[in-house]
Amino acid sequence: MLHPRLARQLAAATTAEGEVDLAALAHAVSIAYRRIDRMKTRALARERRMTSERAARNKEVGKLVAELEEQNARFLAALENMSQGLCFFDGAQRLIISNRRYAEMYRISPEDLKPGTHLCEIVDRRFAAGSFPAMTRAEYLAWREKVAVSNIPNDSVVELRDGRTFAIRHQPMPDGGWVSTHDDITEQRRTETRIAHMARHDALTGLANRVLLHERLEDALARAKRADPCAVLFLDLDHFKAINDSLGHPAGDRLLRAVAIRMRQLVRETDTIARLGGDEFAIIQESVRQPADATALAARLIEELSRPFELDAQQITVAVSIGIAVAPQDGTDADTLLKNADIALYRAKAEGRCRYRFFEPAMDALIERRRTLERDLRRAISAGEFVLHYQPVIRLETRTVSGFEALIRWNHPTRGLVSPAEFIPFAEETGLITEIDEWVLETACREAAAWPDTLAVAVNLSPAHFLSGGVVPAVSGALAEAGLAPGRLEIEITESLMIENSEATLSSLRRLRALGVSISMDDFGTGYSSLGYLRNFRFDKIKIDQSFIRELSCRADSIAIVRAVTGLCTSLGMTTIAEGVETEEQLAALSAEKCTEVQGYLFSRPRPASDVPALLSLFDPALATAA
Ligand code: C2E
Ligand code: MG
Ligand code: MG
Repeated sequence: MLHPRLARQLAAATTAEGEVDLAALAHAVSIAYRRIDRMKTRALARERRMTSERAARNKEVGKLVAELEEQNARFLAALENMSQGLCFFDGAQRLIISNRRYAEMYRISPEDLKPGTHLCEIVDRRFAAGSFPAMTRAEYLAWREKVAVSNIPNDSVVELRDGRTFAIRHQPMPDGGWVSTHDDITEQRRTETRIAHMARHDALTGLANRVLLHERLEDALARAKRADPCAVLFLDLDHFKAINDSLGHPAGDRLLRAVAIRMRQLVRETDTIARLGGDEFAIIQESVRQPADATALAARLIEELSRPFELDAQQITVAVSIGIAVAPQDGTDADTLLKNADIALYRAKAEGRCRYRFFEPAMDALIERRRTLERDLRRAISAGEFVLHYQPVIRLETRTVSGFEALIRWNHPTRGLVSPAEFIPFAEETGLITEIDEWVLETACREAAAWPDTLAVAVNLSPAHFLSGGVVPAVSGALAEAGLAPGRLEIEITESLMIENSEATLSSLRRLRALGVSISMDDFGTGYSSLGYLRNFRFDKIKIDQSFIRELSCRADSIAIVRAVTGLCTSLGMTTIAEGVETEEQLAALSAEKCTEVQGYLFSRPRPASDVPALLSLFDPALATAA
């Protein structure tokens, strides 16, 4: 078909008679050819343009493919190096991809985790490998199904049969498939469990601690309200401190563990045993229908714990005192019940130990007396009710006075002079001892400063004060204030301080020595007689305890001990002093054993400071005139 414009030109070149005007035709044809040429040129140009566009597009596609491949490689590297296991399933429960960690965690060979593997096959492999939760295969598949259709992300913690714990995050996909990540949290769980256990148990014995005891007691009390009574037994080992001190803390710890094991064998599964610290234990005895149930347990405990323990090939004997409070009559809340069991224990110990006592309301009165004593003692410090008495120390060879020991007395407004034996232990328990000792130091230094300057003054310092760390400044302050030469002050400490053997104690002793003060070991032989501490610190003086002096004439071993101590002191360059000398016979024996100094009623009882000049004129007239 002709192009309409060519057809029109052909028509124009044809005359009415049908003749063709060739020129016109030629013109028309040439126009047509030019047109064709133009069209060809345009087509060619278009084709060229399209070719270059295609090339550019191909280049673009190539670049995209390369980028995709690189991204894929990165993705795979990330997948393979994840610390979590990961797997991706499609809607038909077929594996799309999983990583190496997933295979490792579930102990499946990577060969068995090819893309396309069905979930059921993987479940079978996990079953065979034991890396499966404690449920049946069907239960597991049903759970997976539920999670998959729920369309809600799901976090779960799964305990495997082999003891491991996994945290699984399950993310459903729109096509019914899912991605899940798997974290092995076994170690974390164990640590959490350990921490939770530590927070509620005693590290030494593995028994419950105070926190768990309280929790269990609250539960038991709730049951007690529903007619299921319980009892609390408070136990304290008698003389444990002595064993701990003489055999050392590691042996003491082993003993406490052995005690815990023995106690466990005596209680029921439902009962709770707790260690409250030191040698204190508590038991919650459940379902106590009558007091006899608690009595029977207490009696068994006393009997069993009194049997010797084998420790480092030694037979060690401990005894136990027990206080019992029964719920609900002795208390309906944990604190009251524990407090009342403690009061009953206090009573059991006061009555001679190795026995049990039930709580009685009257016992509260005993505790009240302690409270009064504490209040009175606090008042005594500020009211100036303390006085010092002085007992002369006599040089055995010359029978002259070398100094005085300061001994505190409490001038009580209604009770008169109270002996330190009555209030010092209590002051140590309550922490009031620091103030008391500081007062003694200041007073003794001030009063001694008025004596002839050859005379020394000995001051007893409590271990409790010593351990508090403020001893050195207290001593140097008292010396400075009184203007007393440090060489005239002797500090007496007891063995129990040395048993602690802490670096802090030794350092305080060395600093006191550096001040010029001398240090004596008081009551030697009554403690746990470990000679080890004599090596750790060179004392100036050893005071042989009065119990050996008292028995000097009736027990051969006493003289042997005195002889051993004087011999030891002579070879170590220390002075020996015997305290509590009451008879000439004792004095003669001590003289024969070459004891350096003596002190006792034979010469004088402790006397007020105002009697010092009179005492001096009695023993040492020359000194008395100096005073
Ligand atoms: P200690 O330091 O061993 O003092 C010796 C005790 O034996 C004194 O008892 C003394 O009066 C007594 N005594 C002295 N000679 C004889 C004697 O021949 N026969 C008998 N049976 N006893 C004698 P006191 O004064 O009752 O002191 C008892 C303990 O209280 C002292 O034992 C000491 O450990 C402590 N104490 C005394 N004063 C103080 C003080 O100011 N501070 C501290 N922290 N403790 C003190
Ligand atoms: Mg003393
Ligand atoms: Mg003594």
